Amino acid sequence: MELRKDPITRSWVMTGDEPAAGASSETSCRFCPDSANSTQVIAAVPSFSGWSARAVVHPKPLYHIEGEPGRRGEGIYDRMNSVGAHEVLVENPVHDRHLCRASDDEIGQFLRLVAERIMDLKNDPRIKYVSLFKDFGPAAGQEFAHPTSQLTATMFVPRRVLYELRAGREYFVSKERCVFCDILSQEERRAARVIEARGDYVAIGPYAPRVPYETWILPRNHEASFERTGLSKPGLRVNLAALLRRTLQRIRALTESFHLVLHTSPNSLHPSRTLGFWKTIDEDYHWHIEIMPVLAAKARSYTFKEVYYSPVSSETAVKQLREAKIDG
Ligand SMILES: [Zn+2]
Ligand SMILES: [Zn+2]
Ligand SMILES: [Zn+2]
Repeated sequence: MELRKDPITRSWVMTGDEPAAGASSETSCRFCPDSANSTQVIAAVPSFSGWSARAVVHPKPLYHIEGEPGRRGEGIYDRMNSVGAHEVLVENPVHDRHLCRASDDEIGQFLRLVAERIMDLKNDPRIKYVSLFKDFGPAAGQEFAHPTSQLTATMFVPRRVLYELRAGREYFVSKERCVFCDILSQEERRAARVIEARGDYVAIGPYAPRVPYETWILPRNHEASFERTGLSKPGLRVNLAALLRRTLQRIRALTESFHLVLHTSPNSLHPSRTLGFWKTIDEDYHWHIEIMPVLAAKARSYTFKEVYYSPVSSETAVKQLREAKIDG
């Protein structure tokens, strides 16, 4: 697997030929507390009974922390090795206690783990962005039965976030305000698209949704970085936990499957030369959670990817297309 840059959109995609999946011989869950085949534990939030949430290495990581990015050109193209990190965040030690059924305190502990992992990974100057995402339900490509989210740390900013950062900066340049703050205050005034507000957090349906029932959760007070909020104010975490749980319950009343992603500011501790122009990032960006439900009947009408992932390389695909039987 390697990363290739699309010269038109300037976004990176991961591609290559994935080895054929062997028959899975796993009988027990590797994320349960007493698992014999657990992967390496990276960090844990301790509790009376051991841990309440913890981060482990992904059993089949897409990004590897060792090695060099080896970024190189190939004519007009750009490519690099998939150096970074790929972790599984175990949300709860109990095998079937998913976010929509966990207690607010348990979800709060999980959010604390998310903040700690992002903060820690951002200490690596090579890392430009840390993504947290969750695919839940059969139509969303859920990977593990145990309640888990995943985290990737990459040497580039994913496409959708890059678009948001550019748009946030442009809005700030012309209005000297944060576009997300402006959206929130207008939505709260009109109330038509507010799903629920809880403490300092608000769940809204975006004005121009990409999928039916798309939902965003944002802090009402301006803050670019989730990990700053998540670590500094434990009281806030409980409100966010409750709003997240209740919003997921609402969505699950309509459909079984959803994608969830956290959008926070890129690594500004070690700004790269290419990202150096984001001097106003603390003022012009505003962290949020996006939830994209997957409706079975409409599953084919849209796709959602933070970073496009294609398990067949173009070379193999072209070869197969050339050799494909056609009518004439
Ligand atoms: Zn389990
Ligand atoms: Zn804001
Ligand atoms: Zn976003």
